[in-house]
Amino acid sequence: MKERIAVCPGSFDPITNGHLDIVRRGLVVFDKVVIAVGHNVMKQNLFTTEEKVEMIKECVASDDRISVDIFEGLLVDYVKKISSCAILRGLRVVSDFEWEMQLSLMNRKLYGEVDTYFLMTDFRNLFVSSTIIKVTVSAGGSVRGLVPDPVLFKLKEKFPLMGTD
Ligand code: ADP
Repeated sequence: MKERIAVCPGSFDPITNGHLDIVRRGLVVFDKVVIAVGHNVMKQNLFTTEEKVEMIKECVASDDRISVDIFEGLLVDYVKKISSCAILRGLRVVSDFEWEMQLSLMNRKLYGEVDTYFLMTDFRNLFVSSTIIKVTVSAGGSVRGLVPDPVLFKLKEKFPLMGTD
């Protein structure tokens, strides 16, 4: 049977335990998940794409069903290129839904063969976003338990005064 590959696209600036939770849950349904780092024109980034990829690779190294890649341009073109059948996205709160619905319908309009699959994160990650992580550490707070260790390490490099308890 053909391998079922899902693409989990995002900015991952940086990757959080919320993102990883979605990827791991995705592996219950799909054979492989590709974490695809893209550039969101609506967001300003703290990390370069290379830094993001390096951190993600460290986080997922122990599972060969997860890979990391970079995509530019339209997500659906990337989805076609790697013969993926699905886009994987996470939902946290109701306010995520409106944008995610628009995005998934636009992707379907651009390429009718692909569907977006939404998974709900663990309740412990409900309030976690890359933005809140950056805001917290830049003000000296600790985000231990909310991001994986390679991310904690890299954040500490950028924000030496960040809390660590
Ligand atoms: P984008 O810029 O494309 O929104 P993000 O990296 O912010 O990229 O998010 C990528 C996907 O991960 C989105 O579907 C988002 O809803 C989901 N996501 C982000 N944080 C969490 C979390 N804590 N729990 C579950 N899903 C999340």
